[in-house]
Order: sequence, then C-alpha cells, then structure tokens
Amino acid sequence: MEQERLVAPGSFCWNPACRDYGKVGQGNIRKYGRTQKGRQRYQCRTCKATLSETKGTVFHGRHHAQETILECLALLAERNSLAAIRRVKGVKEETVTDWLREAARHVEEVEALLLANYRLTRVQLDALWTYVGHKGEKGGIQKRPGAAASGAAPP
Ligand SMILES: [Zn+2]
Repeated sequence: MEQERLVAPGSFCWNPACRDYGKVGQGNIRKYGRTQKGRQRYQCRTCKATLSETKGTVFHGRHHAQETILECLALLAERNSLAAIRRVKGVKEETVTDWLREAARHVEEVEALLLANYRLTRVQLDALWTYVGHKGEKGGIQKRPGAAASGAAPP
C-alpha cells in the first residue's frame, strides 16, 4: 500500500543545508548505488548528499496513514489540545501521544516531513517535543523514569 509512507524514500532531500531540502517532486533525487547492506541509496543532485531508503520510514506499519499521523502532530505543534485533535481527526488522545513518542525517536525525519508539508515554525516544533520530555536534539529520546514504564501501551 502506498499509504504506508507519506513520502517515499528518495523523493526529497533530507539535508537541512540544501536549497531543495524537504521539497517533494523537484526531480533532484536520483538513485545512487547501494549501501553495504544492499539497500537502495539516493543522491541529491543539488547538494550532492547521499541518503538511504531507510529514511522516511518512521511510521512504517502503523494502522493509520502517515498523512493522518503527521496532521495530528502538526495540529499538536500548533497548540491544539489532544481533545481538540480527537474532535477534529477522530483519533484518541493516547494514540496521538503514542505517535509523538515514536516520532521523538526520529526527530530529524519527522521535522523534515512536518516542515516540508505544514507551515510550522522552529518554535512550534520544539514545543512539540516537550510534550514527550524531549528537546528535539539529535541522538535519541531522553529516558524519564515513569515515562518508560507507561510507554508500552497496547496497540
Ligand atoms: Zn540536497
């Protein structure tokens, strides 16, 4: 199903310094050999950065479409309450926070997708991560006692 990924890997450049960063369908991405593990690799013609196909698979295998997930995260970043999101999108509060927790493990990718597809500011993105006690810096989610224990919610 095409729905599994909002934006296919290799469809846009992930390099924040690139002129075509986050722009979908610019034709700047081309196939560029394979990684050592045999995965397709891509290169941006604009900035010459290479990227692998594992980028962009943040929400792979989730029940909801990635577009729905990103919309909910964007709404949250725009300071809508979880209750408001539930009313508008029909998604349960705990589901959205679950997505947010997952998103916080892939900050770079999620921020790129949100910035590419929604009109969000840096400040709004930073505020988003504070929901899950994560400042948005690279290098993985901060572990908080208590958050980890309740983090394994059933699907
Ligand atoms: Zn680029």
